[in-house]
Amino acid sequence: MVPKEIKNQSVPQSHPRYSSLKYRHKIIEGMKNLVVAEAGLIAHGRGECFDYIIGEKTNETAKIAIKAAVATLLTAKKPVISVNGNVAALVPDELVILSKLLNIPLEINLFYAKEGRIKVITEVLKNAGASDIKGINEDMMTELNGLESNRRKVDFIAKADVVMVPLEDGDRTEALKRLNKTVIAIDLNPISRTALWADITIVDNIIRVIPEMIETTKQFKKLHTNELIEIINNFDNKLNIQKTLDLIIDYITKQKEEAFKILE
Ligand code: ATP
Repeated sequence: MVPKEIKNQSVPQSHPRYSSLKYRHKIIEGMKNLVVAEAGLIAHGRGECFDYIIGEKTNETAKIAIKAAVATLLTAKKPVISVNGNVAALVPDELVILSKLLNIPLEINLFYAKEGRIKVITEVLKNAGASDIKGINEDMMTELNGLESNRRKVDFIAKADVVMVPLEDGDRTEALKRLNKTVIAIDLNPISRTALWADITIVDNIIRVIPEMIETTKQFKKLHTNELIEIINNFDNKLNIQKTLDLIIDYITKQKEEAFKILE
């Protein structure tokens, strides 16, 4: 659905920044509804900046990481997808479709635990059709060692073998790794601490990643376990991050040439 503000400002769909503006407004609406924390706006801006320098598209390296991620989630014993405010504001419907296809719970995990936020995010996910939501009952929670932020409180994540963390902060990724969890990160910044700590780093915008994961899951559900394991074993995260950085350098070099054609 097109946010009211975009309609009112009559930004045409042909506008080169239409998609970016649409998701900005989702984040702003999310902040007004308490789904997104104020700091979530800044995190989104940081993401937009990195999206710009990867060409605002799902690159080959992201596609390779997505395949490894889906194969890992399909072969995991107790996988879980962590959800924060930005994720709930940007892709609630797609996230629920993915979690149902993979038969994986969603766990709400927030850095800023302002009163009422868990309730509204639960509503957003339920409205999108989610039935298996973790992280909403304080009595079920345990704490991750060595973490001071509110994100230390976990529910199913404590028992999980594989945790997918879209838009995560580095401290918690490190804490999850110390607990020997396999971590799948979705992060537009290929050199964030999260990106470097994760086992599988998908450097792409969550708005494109989740739909791509849905399609990959549909295909991979037809594969044999051995084939999925082969995909996982052939994946090299360090090499993939290196290639992503090379791709950014190439893109910037080309953009520099294009920019100077205009500046001449
Ligand atoms: P770290 O602690 O891992 O070094 P950070 O301090 O940048 O990273 P945060 O600000 O907590 O972490 O998280 C925001 C991260 O999420 C940033 O790396 C940003 O690029 C990324 N991000 C923001 N929006 C999106 C998005 N739509 N899709 C994917 N990644 C995003």
